Amino acid sequence: MASGSDPTLEDLFTRANKVGNRRYHKLTQQDFEDYRRFDYWRYIHGDSECGTTPDSQAWVRDNSEHHCPICGERFSRSNGRSIDHKLPRAQYPWLALDFSNLWVICYQCNQEKAEMHWYEYEHYMFTRHPNRYQDVVFARPRHLLKQLGQK
Ligand SMILES: [Zn+2]
Repeated sequence: MASGSDPTLEDLFTRANKVGNRRYHKLTQQDFEDYRRFDYWRYIHGDSECGTTPDSQAWVRDNSEHHCPICGERFSRSNGRSIDHKLPRAQYPWLALDFSNLWVICYQCNQEKAEMHWYEYEHYMFTRHPNRYQDVVFARPRHLLKQLGQK
């Protein structure tokens, strides 16, 4: 792996390869380069325009409405759009590169979801915010979970 200047990224890829060996997914150099490129997409706090590159801003625009799909609040300056990994990077690092694993939700919902596994999150929403539960089920990353043998 190439990066000497980015320990976090290096860690992530080391971990991904370990997990990947167990799950039969081995990261390639292309994955690494894609990741470097798209890592800049990670969320910018409190800005109504999420994304740091024109590419990512365009993606966010194309993949969000005016309201957060979880809480239904309108995106605002103080609670802006953020890109969330449905299946968290900490558990599925290789899915950090998979656009079908990304969605745009508000900053507060992202903070609340944190590093929960998807089903843990559904359970959390069912118990804490039952009125939002159906929307979360609707957004379930079914094909990814199926690929992982978890559905
Ligand atoms: Zn929200």
